[in-house]
Amino acid sequence: MIPSVLPTYNRAPFSFVKGEGSWLIEADGRRFLDLGAGIAVNALGHAHPALVKAITDQANALWHTSNLYRIPNQEALADRLVEHTFADTVFFTNSGTEACELAVKMARKYWYEKGKPEKTDIITFDGSFHGRSAAGIAAAGTEKMVKGFGPLLPGFVHLAWNDWDALEAAVGETTGAILIEPVQGEGGIRPLPDADLKKLRAFCDDKGLLLILDEVQCGVGRTGRLFAHEYAGIAPDIMMVAKGIGGGFPLGAVLATEEAASGMTAGTHGSTYGGNPLGCAVGCAVMDEVTAPGFLESVNAKAGLFRQKLEGLVADHPEVFESVRGSGLMLGLKCKAPNTDIVAAGYDNLVLTVPAADNVIRILPPLTISEEEIAEAVTRLDAAASAVESASAAA
Ligand SMILES: *Cc1c(COP(=O)(O)O)cnc(C)c1O
Repeated sequence: MIPSVLPTYNRAPFSFVKGEGSWLIEADGRRFLDLGAGIAVNALGHAHPALVKAITDQANALWHTSNLYRIPNQEALADRLVEHTFADTVFFTNSGTEACELAVKMARKYWYEKGKPEKTDIITFDGSFHGRSAAGIAAAGTEKMVKGFGPLLPGFVHLAWNDWDALEAAVGETTGAILIEPVQGEGGIRPLPDADLKKLRAFCDDKGLLLILDEVQCGVGRTGRLFAHEYAGIAPDIMMVAKGIGGGFPLGAVLATEEAASGMTAGTHGSTYGGNPLGCAVGCAVMDEVTAPGFLESVNAKAGLFRQKLEGLVADHPEVFESVRGSGLMLGLKCKAPNTDIVAAGYDNLVLTVPAADNVIRILPPLTISEEEIAEAVTRLDAAASAVESASAAA
């Protein structure tokens, strides 16, 4: 009999009932060190006092009015994002995949209004992930996400990751934009080198294409900059944001330049909940914390420490791990043993990690993780790796 919850997830058998900073507490009382942060969502950890206060104050004042009216803290959050990024304007969504929907619509509308309605195609890359909506799955094109869900939204051209000849050959009359994650998350923590992102920007300028970045997972301080593309010293035309921006409240955004957003006039897009007072109260508090003096410096310092310790872990367990990769606190361990075995051994040692494609385990801790917690995390991962070694020796 089908469970009351539609069985689309393979869930680990834990029911967490409380969160404290980098820790999740199971119903039975066990304390897990959380290196997944709800898939890079709990950027400030669990129950951060500033976020608890922001949502509690807002809950006592007003929950929802709809976008029929002005929403003051939506305007405040948009102002903060505009102040700290390339963007001139922001639309709020409730998720990353809704941000993808708008990014696609915005690019198409841009070219339509420019008198080039044929420029509907968006180039995307292998291993990418843009969410589970109709546009999101068509954009990524991954077999396991699209199979059985056709006909897919047309207008996406899928290329191998980082194949410049294929890219050059793929651009034609109907090409309107390139969509890419600066650091692939689901694809296995694959950072696009800064030089390549620079080159991609120049390529878009040269060919007259919009550059859309998906920073849903790598944004909001995750890599040690507010947004990952800042390392390359470039700016996109359109950017998708979600996950960390809400710190655990469902919130997403599309950021754009005035030019790229020029087709999106009143009535062309909307959302009942998008940018609601609760989400934007939390979003403002997240932005205040992440842009506070010293915050990103501390992320970078901790990222350096974590990475160094993970290099040691890989050296100590050459049968289990191959290498460390990633950027900032968006780290990946490329595995030799099956990644799901290592994640499961982590569960036994009360440490939570997240599997990704390419046999990688993701390490996406709260950006507020302490140095002591990083040391503890590596101790637990070390025990997990030893358990995987003994199991394979016994087999
Ligand atoms: C998670 C993710 C999405 C989808 O976000 P949802 O909030 O799950 O819809 C899109 N792009 C990237 C890069 C993501 O990591």
